[in-house]
Amino acid sequence: MKFAVLTIFPEMFDSFWTYGIIKKAIAENHISVSTVNIRDFAEGRHKTTDDRPFGGGCGMVMKPEPLANAIRMAKELIPDSRTVLLSPQGKVFDQKSAQEFAESEGLIFVCGRYEGIDERICSDFIDEEISLGDYVMTGGELGAMVVIEAVTRLIPGVLGSADSAMQDSFSGSLLDFGHYTRPRDFEGSKVPDILTSGNHKDIEKYRLEASMIRTFLKRPDLLENRALSKKEIEILKKWCRDIEKIIETQSLRGSGTLSGN
Ligand code: SAM
Repeated sequence: MKFAVLTIFPEMFDSFWTYGIIKKAIAENHISVSTVNIRDFAEGRHKTTDDRPFGGGCGMVMKPEPLANAIRMAKELIPDSRTVLLSPQGKVFDQKSAQEFAESEGLIFVCGRYEGIDERICSDFIDEEISLGDYVMTGGELGAMVVIEAVTRLIPGVLGSADSAMQDSFSGSLLDFGHYTRPRDFEGSKVPDILTSGNHKDIEKYRLEASMIRTFLKRPDLLENRALSKKEIEILKKWCRDIEKIIETQSLRGSGTLSGN
């Protein structure tokens, strides 16, 4: 997979390329990366990349010519690529988009600044617009880093264990279960016994239920929209039985909770 990032602040990526999974993926040739300075494609003594907006108003707009030439050059570097604009107006990036991107040959990221880029670049040069969420940042660079991180770890061979990406939150639309490491007892808080039992079948069952509980409590919308497996339906039915048992015990005790008091 080839990534090219078009930015007026290429230095922001200098350290990004040299840590963790990204560094490893580059070293093992799973990805190749290039940072393109949009300013190198600007004309004139001052290499200006922005100008005042037609029609007036506040802020500056990124000029079309340097962007167009930078995109054309990146397209020559990575011909089979999609050109992605980071924009708060784009489709909100999620795990599904990361998976789709991970299957492409190459991605060219255009990082906006100021009030954004000239609209003619959006319409004539951009294949899709991606947003990090419903808030506004000052530039697209952090967004490009986020997308590159999420995509790279899905490229086969990048992560140590083939399963790790599959277990992550959102991969199967359930949130990831809680993870524990040594020590077994941390300031009186203990690791659940089942995880140290060595019984892999029970551990798998425990983890599925732990994922479901988390998803139910933190993101019930994910559970509602999920095609449940047989095992998951069994777990939900067990919860129903457990809850009914609690209610029954309460009513036998004559607790007032059932009458709403
Ligand atoms: N005037 C623009 C608007 O309201 O849509 C916002 C421009 S913003 C200050 C400057 C640049 O930051 C954008 O062109 C985009 O590249 C980037 N940016 C800001 N918020 C973003 C977000 N939520 N997701 C992705 N990129 C974002």
